[in-house]
Amino acid sequence: MIDLLNRHDPQLANFVKPKPDRKFATGKFHNFQVEKPDLLKNIPRKYKCYGAPVEYFLSKLKEVDKPKAVFVTSSLTYWWPGVAQTISYIKQTMPDVPLVLGGLYARLYPEHAKKNTKADYIFSGELSEIGGLVRSLFDRDIDFDVEKWFEILDPAYELYERVGYLVFLTSLGCPYRCTYCVSPKLWKRFIQRDPQMVLETIEKYLHLFGVKDVVFFDDAILINKENHFKPLLRFLISKKFNVNYHLPNGIHARLVDEELAVLMKEAGFKTIKLGYETTGKLQESTGGKVYDQDLIRAARILTKSGFTDQEVQAYIMINMPFQQIEDVLKAIEICRNEGISVSINEYTPIPGSQDWYVLLSNGLLDEQTDPVLLNNTVIPYWFKAGIDAKTVQMIKNILHKR
Ligand code: SF4
Repeated sequence: MIDLLNRHDPQLANFVKPKPDRKFATGKFHNFQVEKPDLLKNIPRKYKCYGAPVEYFLSKLKEVDKPKAVFVTSSLTYWWPGVAQTISYIKQTMPDVPLVLGGLYARLYPEHAKKNTKADYIFSGELSEIGGLVRSLFDRDIDFDVEKWFEILDPAYELYERVGYLVFLTSLGCPYRCTYCVSPKLWKRFIQRDPQMVLETIEKYLHLFGVKDVVFFDDAILINKENHFKPLLRFLISKKFNVNYHLPNGIHARLVDEELAVLMKEAGFKTIKLGYETTGKLQESTGGKVYDQDLIRAARILTKSGFTDQEVQAYIMINMPFQQIEDVLKAIEICRNEGISVSINEYTPIPGSQDWYVLLSNGLLDEQTDPVLLNNTVIPYWFKAGIDAKTVQMIKNILHKR
């Protein structure tokens, strides 16, 4: 297992000077400037490659005995050139080993991935369909049930030599249907893991790595909170692991209550991000996940329970289709009035989301648009349905001035 984004791998230091950790073991990735793809030639930004250097990767590949197959994952679709390059390096080293590309890029852009990478298989199905792939690769039948797998299998952290923090999922998917999101499309069913099992997993890996930070990266951790997150919080409190807990993925403000806030405080949560996104009409038309009053209520409950403005942040999205600049400014003002911080998210349309189809049918997006043009830092330079690049910068400046 080679993770090119593990900043805490001790072997990295043989190739680059490690960048120091910032708060909670976070920090910058090693990066270097690369030539822009032609499509981005007119975008006045630098283009960089992030993650471990090539020499590190090649030396790691040399350490591996010839495997039966290589599995490469991918995340944000607009980073596909990095994925394609990574696959090229693997193919140079192990040309006759079957290579499977999975992850978000493969899932959302299977045809693009087929055309633009040297992967032998693009796994674009649901996880429940993995049996077919295993059969064609290894001529073996496996009975794969996503729910059972999620309940009993731990993330394989033991494959790492060192990590800076531990990230867990206690659930898969989300029962909400926000128009800009594909979580419900990626996971057809919302699944939660037994809190006792989650606790055992956390305990196991804390013993193995002794890290100080534990992150929950669920899309919807507060759904069914009385039977899921609250029992987990009580377990964490009773165990006294003496670590910081973090919720960086935006929790549902409407589901925050006083008991939950008190439990999170007692457990030692240091990062709580609330999904707010915007004010105005878009709150309703994008799915009604959160309204101003939900955000205000949640902010007051959390502040009353002792969380500081550094610990509680609201995500505000900029550049949503048809969003008004006033919606963004008002959202920032509401957060400031409530004594919580703001974290800006730059919108990008995702294939398969409801927004995507609306943009296509209104002629505001072309289905053939290359994902690199949908990079959230690139899109304000050409996206007609959003806020232009200068205004985006102006909003960022307002936040920095605080
Ligand atoms: S944005 Fe959040 S609440 Fe909305 S569908 Fe996606 S994961 Fe669920």
